[in-house]
Amino acid sequence: MRSVYLDHAATTPVHPEVIAAMLPYFQPMYGNASSVHAFGRKGRMAIDNAREVLAKALGAQTNEIYFTSGGTESDNIALVGVAEAMADKGRHIITSSIEHHAILDTCAHLAKKGYEITYLPVDSEGLVNPEDVKAAIRPDTILISIGHANNEMGAIQPIAEIGAIAKAHGVYLHTDAVQSFGILPVDVNELQVDLLSLSGHKIYGPKGIGALYVRRGTRIRPIMFGGGQERKMRPGTENVPGIVGLAKAVELAMADREEQAERLTRLRDKLIAGLTAVPDVKLNGHPEKRLPGNVNVSVKYVEGESLILSLDLRGIAVSSGSACTSGSLDPSHVLIAMGLDHLQAHGSLRLTLGRDTTEEDIDYVLEVFPEVVARLRSMSPLYNRLEREE
Ligand SMILES: *Cc1c(COP(=O)(O)O)cnc(C)c1O
Repeated sequence: MRSVYLDHAATTPVHPEVIAAMLPYFQPMYGNASSVHAFGRKGRMAIDNAREVLAKALGAQTNEIYFTSGGTESDNIALVGVAEAMADKGRHIITSSIEHHAILDTCAHLAKKGYEITYLPVDSEGLVNPEDVKAAIRPDTILISIGHANNEMGAIQPIAEIGAIAKAHGVYLHTDAVQSFGILPVDVNELQVDLLSLSGHKIYGPKGIGALYVRRGTRIRPIMFGGGQERKMRPGTENVPGIVGLAKAVELAMADREEQAERLTRLRDKLIAGLTAVPDVKLNGHPEKRLPGNVNVSVKYVEGESLILSLDLRGIAVSSGSACTSGSLDPSHVLIAMGLDHLQAHGSLRLTLGRDTTEEDIDYVLEVFPEVVARLRSMSPLYNRLEREE
């Protein structure tokens, strides 16, 4: 049976060149990068080189890049670190209602500590209105955090516009660019952001490594303590193989980013056209302002979970919303924020394409999907009742 992986927003396969680049840093170059001997110096050099690769890709300076354990940790350091450093100025933070849980749960933690959080709404296509950001800014606002591209339905937010507003008001702007970095242009000066999170395993790098960009001069405090690594911002022995792997993944992504974006957009639009040709299947999210590899549809009269299991039996790996929400029966907070009712949100399906996705994969999905939907609907009492009424 054909095996088709369409869950690249959850994680990506590690690129063979990334694995090859990492291996020597397990053995023989296993030194602790803080050690002064030759073993340590080799690790240090690899980290310095990786920092340059990331800085160049983001349009940043090397001393503005901090390696972390991933997107979640970068988001936590950005939010809690700025909140603690800025508490004397104010305790108000602006974010949106469709953020990743790494942002929303960190905001919930800060709210318990006495910070006030404004959750901006989105329109029916999942976009934040920059005017809403402007209107929400108060004298005590210290930070705005809006994700660059949504992990569930792919909407790309107007970060540069929000950045200009944040700058004009003297408020820091953080963006979670975990989904966009590597496929969309992500330049910290063009986007006018002060902090930016990224992760290795969403861009064909290893899991457990990421980075946080912090613009020079930004007031921020570490949230972990114990050593001088990453200029005390992220103490702990550096994950040298992970850092090397992340840098290699970034180099590979930058080498053909535009070409990949065009290829994925074409496959994505073919998939969207085919899926929505099935009756009562609707696209969620903006048709154009969306990630090149993201497709999210609501399939009426079918449970998302049943659909995922049926497709899995045919070798097709997809998900419902985010990997973090699946497994629970709560409907996606993102789709609910866009105004979908619980039934539509429950029947949602996310298919995310990647570097390894082929035209044949898409053809196979478009062959299997209508069959699976028809079979599930034929077993649905709700669907059969509606059919009879019509
Ligand atoms: C995957 C993801 C994260 C979490 O990154 P990890 O490296 O898995 O911790 C954060 N934000 C977004 C938008 C993501 O897609």
